Amino acid sequence: MSKPKYVKFPVGINKRFLDDVCYELDRDTDALTITSEGNFYDFPKERAPNMVNSLGLEKIKTVKKVSILLAASSLLLLLFLLFLRQTLEEAYWPLSIILFLACMMFFFVATDLYKIENYYNISRCKKCGRDFAYEEIKKSLIKKVSTYDDYEETDTRYFKCKYCSDEDLKIKSLLKKSKSKARNIYRNEKNCKECGKNFALIEYREADTHLESFDTRRTIKHYKCTHCEYMEISIKDDYVTTN
Ligand SMILES: [Zn+2]
Ligand SMILES: [Zn+2]
Repeated sequence: MSKPKYVKFPVGINKRFLDDVCYELDRDTDALTITSEGNFYDFPKERAPNMVNSLGLEKIKTVKKVSILLAASSLLLLLFLLFLRQTLEEAYWPLSIILFLACMMFFFVATDLYKIENYYNISRCKKCGRDFAYEEIKKSLIKKVSTYDDYEETDTRYFKCKYCSDEDLKIKSLLKKSKSKARNIYRNEKNCKECGKNFALIEYREADTHLESFDTRRTIKHYKCTHCEYMEISIKDDYVTTN
């Protein structure tokens, strides 16, 4: 269990910077926007042009499709072997290991070829039409917006063509399941940290709870003072345990 981090919005303040993260509140709609800088993406910059030039894009696409098909077939065969376990006796384990390794290998090849095809599509310039032309010019921008309806995360990447200087944005959007409706019955009433009035600080919305990463669950709670206009949020990250 981790301790929650509090971000305070005193009266008249709607924007706060904390640990390189920007928190912004819209006091009319109660929307919360959290923005931070991401990283450059690890594109296969050298391998992709070499492979596309030597094999051609069509061949790469075909090998990718065949690899997916072979990975799926070896997985199905692996499941089928389970039923024949008694009949196969000693042959069961060697066969299973061979099929498992084959499945992993085809899956790896398919993923790798997908990355090359994806980079080819992303880096082709929309203006001059040259291949492998767009390059990332700055780190990505990660924006999370929490409203009463949903919690949406967008990842914006900034590209520029190295031949004609055309600039392009790639925006990836991810809607996370989170329910943050307004509350009818308030709870967790606390004393206001600004005006000091007793039990005036209320949790006025349901908390946003969602998976922040594959092993971290994030809970954001929203508070406001019913007496003055002080607002605050608390952010808590917990490791997801399987038990
Ligand atoms: Zn260009
Ligand atoms: Zn207050």
